Amino acid sequence: MTKNILISGASVAGPALAFWLRRYGFNPTVVERAPAPREGGYAVDFRGAALEALARMGILDEVKQYATQMGDMDYVNSAGKRVGSTPPVVFSGELEVLRGDLVKVLYERTRHDVEYIFNDSITSITQSGHGAAVTFERGAPREFDLVIGADGVHSNVRSLVFGAEEKFAHHLGMYVSVSTVANYLGLEYRGRCHNTPGRMAGMYPARGNTEAKALMFFTADELDYGRRDTARQRELLNTAFAGEGWEVPRILDEIRRSPDFYFDSITQIKMEHFTHGRVALLGDAGYCASPLSGMGTSLALVGAYVLAGELASAVDHQTAFARYEDEMRGYIKACHAQAAGAGMWLVPGSNAMIRFRNWNYRLLRLKPFSGFFTKVALKAANTIRLKDYAAFTRAA
Ligand SMILES: Cc1cc2nc3c(=O)[nH]c(=O)nc-3n(C[C@H](O)[C@H](O)[C@H](O)COP(=O)(O)OP(=O)(O)OC[C@H]3O[C@@H](n4cnc5c(N)ncnc54)[C@H](O)[C@@H]3O)c2cc1C
Repeated sequence: MTKNILISGASVAGPALAFWLRRYGFNPTVVERAPAPREGGYAVDFRGAALEALARMGILDEVKQYATQMGDMDYVNSAGKRVGSTPPVVFSGELEVLRGDLVKVLYERTRHDVEYIFNDSITSITQSGHGAAVTFERGAPREFDLVIGADGVHSNVRSLVFGAEEKFAHHLGMYVSVSTVANYLGLEYRGRCHNTPGRMAGMYPARGNTEAKALMFFTADELDYGRRDTARQRELLNTAFAGEGWEVPRILDEIRRSPDFYFDSITQIKMEHFTHGRVALLGDAGYCASPLSGMGTSLALVGAYVLAGELASAVDHQTAFARYEDEMRGYIKACHAQAAGAGMWLVPGSNAMIRFRNWNYRLLRLKPFSGFFTKVALKAANTIRLKDYAAFTRAA
């Protein structure tokens, strides 16, 4: 029925979908705005059904080779004394790798039989009964059977087909920044962070402790800045953490020298329908749960598995898209709910709440409560049962 499928975005969701589409005999093309696969960013983790999706792709062992092997996250006071800690499952899920390493694995697995177009972006999509006519910033116009937006929380495809971001974006009152910095604290497979009301500054080691990621959260109503204006984003971060104690001045200094500064609002994308005609959204583009959920990468991988499987097994794309939405809805809802509750624990709003949180974290590390963290951290992760689409695999 449908053969030629254009995917916008070559991060996690896009290449994962391309992988499955090739396996089912489709012909995917991936267009990415960046000039090459984008490395950098923070550690991403997999929980529950996402591990099964990796296993079914046959890449679980390869991805495991990049495991960060992160241990506990320690919470320290302004003097650097530990006042609480969480086990690895809270920040690192069941398997954690650096986002750039995952992107590399997915790209390498697909680049030989998938057409990748870098340095370009879709400018218009015109749907008709027999296809979608697409124009690009640089390349010549082309016809596709379907278009998939896997282009992140600020999705271009979503804006072009479904409407302005404001219609679907729910700001959770917080901002996040992640940057690669020197591991000057000498952290060894465990992170360290410090809270003041509405602020969290932290560091965790990466690449076998040879470097670190500075992880900063702060609460704020919606701020005014350009998405590509990193100078202004750095200024907002510095203002938010001005006058903070512990290691914050030094960490801000390290971030100034970082090669890969990342800054964004903590936002969820909520859409009643994330498919329309010949267009579907995937991953953060359609249902971003925000980094607070710990489920962004899992949602992207599971979404890619389900969308490709439904396209392979249905008689037409309308049926496939309806089933994709149905299969994903409960899982998305659970992931969104998981994020909503996490914010007040990660970035408490008052000193009393910080003390209460730390007391809880000390208590919950005691033996009688040993399963608590795992239960909470994996609550949403298994709310979907992956169907078996193996019968639709085509010979290469
Ligand atoms: C460089 C980078 C660093 C990140 N670092 C962090 C981090 O530190 N913390 C965090 O919580 N989350 C981070 N994320 C987001 C996180 O990776 C996603 O939440 C998760 O992996 C879901 O993946 P996704 O593929 O749906 O979306 P994303 O990983 O956001 O990927 C979207 C892709 O679409 C591309 N794209 C965007 N617009 C267009 C366009 N107009 N045309 C073509 N392509 C387009 C982007 O360049 C990107 O490659 C980062 C994302 C990127 C791109």
